[in-house]
Amino acid sequence: MGSEPMLCGGIDIGGTKIEARLFRGAAAETVEVRRIATPKLAFVALLEAIVEQVRWLESLDPAPFPIGLSLAGVIDPETGIGYAANIPVTGYALGRELGQATGRDLPIVNDCMAFAFSEANGGAGDGARSVMGLILGTGVGGGICIDGQLPHRHGGLAVEIGHLGLPAQALARHDLPLFKCGCGREGCMETCVSGTGIANLAEWRLGNRMRAEDLVAAGTDEAAAVLDLWQDLAGDCLYAIQIMLDPDRIVLGGGLSKLPDVIGRLTRSLEAKRMGSVRLPEITLARHGDSSGARGAALTARTEWPT
Ligand SMILES: [Zn+2]
Repeated sequence: MGSEPMLCGGIDIGGTKIEARLFRGAAAETVEVRRIATPKLAFVALLEAIVEQVRWLESLDPAPFPIGLSLAGVIDPETGIGYAANIPVTGYALGRELGQATGRDLPIVNDCMAFAFSEANGGAGDGARSVMGLILGTGVGGGICIDGQLPHRHGGLAVEIGHLGLPAQALARHDLPLFKCGCGREGCMETCVSGTGIANLAEWRLGNRMRAEDLVAAGTDEAAAVLDLWQDLAGDCLYAIQIMLDPDRIVLGGGLSKLPDVIGRLTRSLEAKRMGSVRLPEITLARHGDSSGARGAALTARTEWPT
């Protein structure tokens, strides 16, 4: 570990902002942050914005250091062609274009995989061999890290649990309709388990698109019933993760991870669905929060950096 460079940089490319962070030391603590808005329309403008962030990071130290990128989207591992819902990279070879523009290799990792990698390396996943990072935010996304490393992905997908359909048992149990999902399908986990999902459930039950924090603040029986419904459906999502991936630990991130007693709620919900006496994964809160995408990308680049 002593030969690892002291500095590493990460650039997290999201739908609203491109955030560059400089990290220092073996534990990769943030020392500098710079955010700019994500250009929404043109790939050329996006490329320029990312290059600007690379140059800013490079300006912070005269000696070269590793820099990695995380992207809220998919990069095909064979062709390098990108696909994203909210970032104009679809159809473009982002890595190749950035290599030409900057004269350096910049590894790119999916943001949910970066989150899992960050938490598994000096985060809430420390000490666990398999770590599932589950982000409950506007949408639902996940990543998996095994023995401290990201497994190879055939098509560049993360753990796209948000776009798995809710199980028929769950729909029947609550007489739920199929809500439309941003991916174009209906009835995906994300349509009930994410922050948007809670608003869907509130509108369906109460006729009002309330946010999770509004439901908590309302404190009424009706509001509590919507949160309990969310809790039950989130347990179905955790159960799907458990039976397919069987991780040692599930690390939670995203806005809904700030709900009161969220670990207790989700643990109880998963326990109620347990298959036989099978060992349950530990559920815990992320340590690195909003820096996870950039930190995971920076650590990925540090791992690949020639020493
Ligand atoms: Zn979907």
